[in-house]
Amino acid sequence: MTSEMNEAEKAGKIIEWDADGRPVVPENPIIPYIEGDGTGPDIWAAAQPVFDVAVYHAYGGKRSIIWHELLAGEKAQRVYGPDNPLPEQTFEDIARYGVAIKGPLTTPVAGGFRSLNVALRQRLDLYACVRPVRYFPGVPAPVVHPEKVDVVIFRENTEDVYAGIEWEAGSRDAIEVLAVINKKLKDSGSQLVSLESAVGVKTMSEFNSNRLVRRAIQYALENGYPSVTLVHKGNIMKYTEGAFRDWGYQVARGEFPEQTITEVELYEKFNGQIQPAVIVIKDRIADAMFQQLLLRPEEFGVIATPNLNGDYLSDAAAAQVGGLGMAPGANIGDRCALFEATHGSAPKYAGQDRVNPSSLILSGVEMFRFMGWVEAAELIIKALTQTFAQRTVTYDLARQIEGAQEVKCLEFGVAIQENIRRISR
Ligand code: NAD
Repeated sequence: MTSEMNEAEKAGKIIEWDADGRPVVPENPIIPYIEGDGTGPDIWAAAQPVFDVAVYHAYGGKRSIIWHELLAGEKAQRVYGPDNPLPEQTFEDIARYGVAIKGPLTTPVAGGFRSLNVALRQRLDLYACVRPVRYFPGVPAPVVHPEKVDVVIFRENTEDVYAGIEWEAGSRDAIEVLAVINKKLKDSGSQLVSLESAVGVKTMSEFNSNRLVRRAIQYALENGYPSVTLVHKGNIMKYTEGAFRDWGYQVARGEFPEQTITEVELYEKFNGQIQPAVIVIKDRIADAMFQQLLLRPEEFGVIATPNLNGDYLSDAAAAQVGGLGMAPGANIGDRCALFEATHGSAPKYAGQDRVNPSSLILSGVEMFRFMGWVEAAELIIKALTQTFAQRTVTYDLARQIEGAQEVKCLEFGVAIQENIRRISR
């Protein structure tokens, strides 16, 4: 343990976790943060004071966060050398302190790192990627009624075609794997696969699907969403995506029998009328879902889906309400959670104090909700809403809003802080 960590532990307390995978949060928790690369330091400098001011005003000074910096990405490489962008200490501290927040990390071009973000998710078993998508009045959006969108996407984070199990076309491994597959296909009388093909493997397990759907249902119940939609491509991929759907319904029926009803039952028993305190479990085929989210977004609340569908759907939904620069994200496991801006490190704007810090600020809002600090979360949402209504925005939005007052990244954060103080008076 470093001396700085001892300092953090003198001032603050560690967040514990209960048996249901929920944090038990003290009044002065230690929260590790990673500034991130490129524009990461710019947005962190704007966001952190917003978090502190919101917590101070929401709880009259009784609660505060003890921030603890962790090194990752280029900052870690400067200290530990080019081969070490993710030091062991960083993994250990996120696991030890339980809840952490990060800016974007640049994917190193060389050195065999697929992505630092993927490494963090896999090592810490952060199996649920959570992406809330809501509209803020005044933010330019490409659809007629962006205000009808209020969804939270739970994307499975550990398997599906994203597990990285693939072999290059023509490689010895690919040919060996294909030979085994072709033997099976021949036995069942199916058409064989060309031995020149590249191969990728799609796996889905009941354990991983269940824990994702379980979290999605819990979130819907705790945050007042009326439905959980299982989005899959089970009509084509019956044993993977189809199983995801079936397992999802089983979790609802088996673990939440009193609090859930299927869409079919809702029509049979209640003529489709939503029942109080009961959430509807439904499923949609992925391609139809993209249409329905555009055409009838008000019909969806929480969405639970495998990795690939979730990747596409999260970005499409974010675009619907005004773009990725605003979308927050979280990666959650049963023993720790990492909240993060969803955009990249935008290196061409690094150090210019220009970019929009909203994605990181809204990730902090999700972190507060997760910690049960709902008042601080609501205060930031109100203040951010007011800031947009005042048309005080960074360059990316200013160029799309008539009469906008363009401010720097830090100034945008200060404007939110002023609105927090004004609301709290
Ligand atoms: P990017 O999101 O960094 O940038 C694309 C463009 O989006 C920028 O040029 C800028 O115009 C705009 N943009 C991004 N964030 C913005 C903000 N906060 N405010 C205003 N405009 C913003 O995507 P990229 O260029 O593909 O990736 C750069 C690096 O980031 C790569 O190394 C990539 O691997 C990494 N990356 C990291 C994460 C993460 O840490 N979660 C996510 C995506 C990409």
